[in-house]
Amino acid sequence: MADTGLAPGLYVTATPIGNAGDIGGRARDVLAHVDLIACEDTRVSAPLLKRYGVATKLIPYHDHNAARVRPRLLRRLQEGARLALISDAGTPLISDPGYRLVREAAAQGLPVYAVPGPCALIAALMVSGVATDRFLFAGFLPTRSRARRRALSELATQHCTLVFYESARRLAASLADMAATLGAREAAVARELTKLHEDVRRASLDELAAHYQAGPAPKGEVVIVVAHQRSVSVPMTTRSTGRSPTRLTSCPCARRWRRSPISAAGRAARSMPGRWR
Ligand code: SAM
Repeated sequence: MADTGLAPGLYVTATPIGNAGDIGGRARDVLAHVDLIACEDTRVSAPLLKRYGVATKLIPYHDHNAARVRPRLLRRLQEGARLALISDAGTPLISDPGYRLVREAAAQGLPVYAVPGPCALIAALMVSGVATDRFLFAGFLPTRSRARRRALSELATQHCTLVFYESARRLAASLADMAATLGAREAAVARELTKLHEDVRRASLDELAAHYQAGPAPKGEVVIVVAHQRSVSVPMTTRSTGRSPTRLTSCPCARRWRRSPISAAGRAARSMPGRWR
């Protein structure tokens, strides 16, 4: 193996979630100098790496071949190789493959290094306007409504912000189940973050459900951020006062709360160089 100045070991490396400019200098160096990069799909990662001038060999590592490929990767690590693990986008292991590889490497005393970077759940929290001091990342919910509602009722008593990954196709149905199970909490739908059509919509869960049920399914990738139960909307005034029938209470960000299809962020993303997806 060439002497690249990089210590042997497994480098778990984050890549952009949309904007190719969002890669760190260290991640680029690591990807350029490791002996092999394990990626989910070479058709996704090869163009991105080419853009960075990285010519390192790729090996597919995904749910369907992991059991077969993992022992080979571990053997290479035992022999002193430098391997990187990346996913299609964002941080490996976060709703993406890699957990068993890291676990087994660690169990064998092999070095594992984090090369942190973009992650959709963190990006969504950063712009949601929902409290970020305590949160629970719940990953993807079940696809069937009954199972989804059951999973949501188990989360309903958590005293923290909840973060979900969801497909755009199921967004309206999931929001409706969230509104039914969690109540009219504040929430944000963060879609296509760092990409051309970036959009963050902030409202209560029932308003968001109504919004997405009314139109065609949106396109792209979505994160849903839901405030904890203390910020449930409570009836405040009647319609006769002419004021809004609901108010968001108890949450420090309620004052700032407003429905805002963002578009300053979308405009900013549009003007950024390096969008790749
Ligand atoms: N490992 C990735 C990460 O670090 O965020 C997540 C991979 S998971 C298979 C893909 C999900 O992440 C999508 O379905 C969506 O919920 C979310 N996601 C990824 N990129 C996103 C983006 N640019 N904007 C909004 N959500 C995104």
